[in-house]
Amino acid sequence: MIKANKYYGDLEKSYLFSEIAARVRRHSEANPEQEILRLGIGDVTLPLAPAVIAALHEAVDDLASAERFYGYGPEQGYPFLREVIAENDYRARGIDVSADEIFISDGAKSDTGNFGDILAGDLTVAIADPVYPVYRDTNIMFGRKDSMIMLPCTAENGYTPSVPDQPCDLIYLCSPNNPTGAVMSRADLRDWVDYALANQSLILFDAAYESFISDADLVKSIFEIPGAEHCAVEFRSFSKSAGFTGLRCAYTIIKKITLINDGNGKMVPLHDLWLRRQTTRFNGASYLSQRAAAAVYTPEGKKEATAAIQYYKRNAEHIRSTLSNLGMAVTGGDNSPYVWARIPEGYTSWEYFDYLLKNFGIVVTPGSGFGSCGEGYVRFSAFGAWETCRKAMALISKSRDQ
Ligand code: PLP
Repeated sequence: MIKANKYYGDLEKSYLFSEIAARVRRHSEANPEQEILRLGIGDVTLPLAPAVIAALHEAVDDLASAERFYGYGPEQGYPFLREVIAENDYRARGIDVSADEIFISDGAKSDTGNFGDILAGDLTVAIADPVYPVYRDTNIMFGRKDSMIMLPCTAENGYTPSVPDQPCDLIYLCSPNNPTGAVMSRADLRDWVDYALANQSLILFDAAYESFISDADLVKSIFEIPGAEHCAVEFRSFSKSAGFTGLRCAYTIIKKITLINDGNGKMVPLHDLWLRRQTTRFNGASYLSQRAAAAVYTPEGKKEATAAIQYYKRNAEHIRSTLSNLGMAVTGGDNSPYVWARIPEGYTSWEYFDYLLKNFGIVVTPGSGFGSCGEGYVRFSAFGAWETCRKAMALISKSRDQ
C-alpha cells in the first residue's frame, strides 16, 4: 500500500505568510481607504537591472536561432557563469574557489533544502532559533525532529548562535541573518569552524544576503576562515543580490578537499556526492537565468546591482534609525536588509503586528513565526519602495510624538 513520508506529519502547519496575507486582506476589505505599507516579506521590489535585461534579450535570441540553440545544459551550470563567479566573488577577494567547485542552481532554498539528500538520516542538527524555516522543516521531513539542537539567538548573544556544549553533526548558519539581520563576526565564525573541525561536523553556511555587507572587517564568505575548506559548504543566491527572486539562479560552493565519512568509515569527497545527486535529480538552471546572472558581473551589471542594494540599504538604515530613535531595541539593518525590533511590553508578536496594521496600515512579519525565540519581536523588511518605507516610519514616529 502506498504510504506518505510519515515525518511530514511532524511539520507544523505552515501559516505565517498566508496568515499575514489573510489578515491584511480582511483589514483592507474593512478599511478600503487605508493605504497598505508593506514592510513584511523579503521579496525584492525593484525591476531587474538594464544589463540583466539586455543579456536576457540576447539569450532569448540564442534560443530562437537554430545555430545557437541551447538544449539541456551541464547540470552543474555553464562554465561561462561558474568562471565569473569564481573570479569575482572569490579569487578577487583572495579566497581560493575554482569554477569546478561551484554548482549553479535555481535557488538557495532548493539547495539548502535538498542538501540533506546526501547526508545520513541519524544526524544531530544545530539550528538557530529564530530561523529561516527551510532548515528546520526540511530536517523534520528527513525524520530528524528529535535530533535537532535549537540554538537560541537573543539579545544576550547578539542574536548570533553560540557553539553548543555537546557535539553536533550538521550545523546551519545564516549570516547576514534572516530574520534577525545580525551578522556573525570573524571571531564567531572562527569559533564555529574550530568546533566543526573538532567534532567532525559539517557547516551549511547560507550567505544569501552577503551583498548587503558593507563593513570591510566583516566576513562575506565562510571560506575566509582558515579550516572552513574542510568542514563547510556555502550557499549564495542572485535573488537578493540582483533581484532574481522571479528569474531564479543561485549557487553552492563545495570545496574539492572537503571529505565526509561515507557511512562505512571511508572518507570521500563531499563534492562527488553532491555532483552525483545533482546529475541524477537536477537538469540545470535555465540557460536564460544563467546568461542573466553572468551579466551581473559585467561593469554595468555590477554598477546597477550595487545601486539596487544601496537603495534597499537606505530603506534599512531609515527603518533602523527611526525605530532606534523611538527607543526600540533593534538589530540588523546596517549590513542586512532586515531590521529585528523588540516590541513594546504587553504585546505578543502577532498583537503588535495587528496594532501596526490597524493603526497605520503597516505590514511587518511577526517574529514568533520564525521560532519561539522570535516571540516579542517583529521583522521589518527593507525590500519595499523608499516612499513606502518613509511613510511607514513617519506614521510610527508621529504616533510616538503624541
Ligand atoms: N536563504 C535565506 C536565508 C533566505 O532568506 C532566502 C529567501 O528569502 C533564501 C535562502 C532563498 O533564496 P532563493 O531565492 O535563492 O531560493
